[in-house]
Amino acid sequence: MNGKVVVITGGSTGIGKAVAIECAKNQANVVILSIEDYEKVEGAVREIESYGGSVSYYKCDVSSEENVSEVFTKIISKYGRIDYAFNNAGIGPDGVRMQYKSLIELSEGEWDKVLEVNMKGVWLCMKYELMQMRKQKDGSIVNTASIGGYKMAPEFGAYGPSKAGVIALTELAALENSEYNIKVNCICPGPIKGTELSKNSSSVNPDEEKILCEHVIPLKKMGVLSEVVNSVMFLFESTHTTGQKLFIDGGMHIK
Ligand code: NAD
Repeated sequence: MNGKVVVITGGSTGIGKAVAIECAKNQANVVILSIEDYEKVEGAVREIESYGGSVSYYKCDVSSEENVSEVFTKIISKYGRIDYAFNNAGIGPDGVRMQYKSLIELSEGEWDKVLEVNMKGVWLCMKYELMQMRKQKDGSIVNTASIGGYKMAPEFGAYGPSKAGVIALTELAALENSEYNIKVNCICPGPIKGTELSKNSSSVNPDEEKILCEHVIPLKKMGVLSEVVNSVMFLFESTHTTGQKLFIDGGMHIK
């Protein structure tokens, strides 16, 4: 990845940060986008930088076209290209906290918020990434969907539909851009240990991990960040894999 440009949304925490560190270790120019103010993510940015390469940070709400368009204009004018993109920013069923709600309990605002960040955010970022990658006739995009976008979990609100949308967007973008040598794939993680999203979930139900491992995940263990990182790096470098959804879920999708 020496000198290549990698854009990562939600790159200051959890899965995004773990991928950013791996890219930095591979001497990439890492560009992180997140909704947080720089002061809040400075520690993470410095940590990623300590592994090598270079790191830039742009505050950006991925659900706002005005924000996304402005930030991508800055990225292109600074680096002139985008080689890899990891569209990973996302929120849980109730925005920040995990509050389990059925479809009839969901408010219009909750539905809109989750769809706007998780699905529209991926479309908007891809729109600007693809415009640049088409000019280059080369590029590799990985979107973060979820096992929840393949197998619907009752009372997960709009989360499942939003991630099913990410899988659909991935397939559509892969088809529309194959003639430009652009690969578009997505990952579908099951529950991954140690991210804010999964911590919020286990703070609502402390027994959740035990229940998942005993009854839901065939391999009987939670996923870890390094397993997700390996899958993203594999898809980044794929030359003949596009439109794929890669499950990192201990076999949940076949149960
Ligand atoms: P996380 O909360 O650490 O990461 C989410 C990131 O998205 C944060 O950095 C946050 O600042 C950013 N973000 C949120 N809203 C944004 C917005 N409007 N604009 C820009 N950035 C925004 O949790 P994570 O687990 O690392 O989640 C990363 C992705 O992985 C999410 O899409 C999530 O749905 C998905 N996922 C996580 C798990 C899991 O078990 N952790 C499982 C399946 C899928």
